[in-house]
Amino acid sequence: MINFSTTKLYEGKAKILYTTEDPEILLTYFKDDATAFNAQKRGQIVGKGEINCAIASALFQEITAAGISTHYLSCPAPNQMLVKAVKIIPLEVVVRNIAAGSLCRQTGLPLGQVLPRPLVEFYYKDDALGDPLLTIDRLFLMELATPAQLEQLQTMTRQINQILIRFFQECNITLVDFKLEFGIDTQGQIILADEISPDTCRLWDSQETDPAKRVLDKDRFRQDLGNVEGAYQQVLARVRNLRP
Ligand code: C5P
Repeated sequence: MINFSTTKLYEGKAKILYTTEDPEILLTYFKDDATAFNAQKRGQIVGKGEINCAIASALFQEITAAGISTHYLSCPAPNQMLVKAVKIIPLEVVVRNIAAGSLCRQTGLPLGQVLPRPLVEFYYKDDALGDPLLTIDRLFLMELATPAQLEQLQTMTRQINQILIRFFQECNITLVDFKLEFGIDTQGQIILADEISPDTCRLWDSQETDPAKRVLDKDRFRQDLGNVEGAYQQVLARVRNLRP
């Protein structure tokens, strides 16, 4: 029996991490709290904790089934996930299939332009610095990964992108972009960590062309598009329909 709430280890913007009796296992509690623009905008998305936990659980299982290691173990309750303890690599690995968000703002590429090849970018996970975009040389300068680790991160990320593109396609959802985090487990292996959910992905309804109506992710909250809860519920419903 695991004691689920021994000590609060860390509280982030969307999740709380607790220790368990097993030092190799942590408990993640998914919150309804929503933040955007480096927490300058704050709010609540009712039911988000349970929805994101369920979506992340389904996606982690999909990725694991394809042979990529993740921190996911199980969900003991609807908004709780048991995960392998890892040392988080302080990188936000962003993959883009279609131009949106900061890529459009920083390059002038038009929203919705399909990229010729998925773009993998590394940001420094540091709220105080505003999670800046890194160059590869800066990443090495800061010793955030070795060249071998960087290559492994890029390979794993591109594989995960292909798995997720296909999965979401079957849900009639276009995977525009998303953010991943990786950690080093107790055996020294790089594994996928954190979460994958409408908080961390841009997901567009493939059947919808209206640029506001098609949005099924946190952009509804960021841009005050309304019906945020409905969009999150819609993603979960489609995921559950595919993987009951
Ligand atoms: O803001 P930007 O366009 O760079 O975001 C790219 C993708 O990464 C989006 O899907 C966004 O939700 C995700 N992201 C995230 N957490 C961050 C930054 C970006 O989940 N801190």
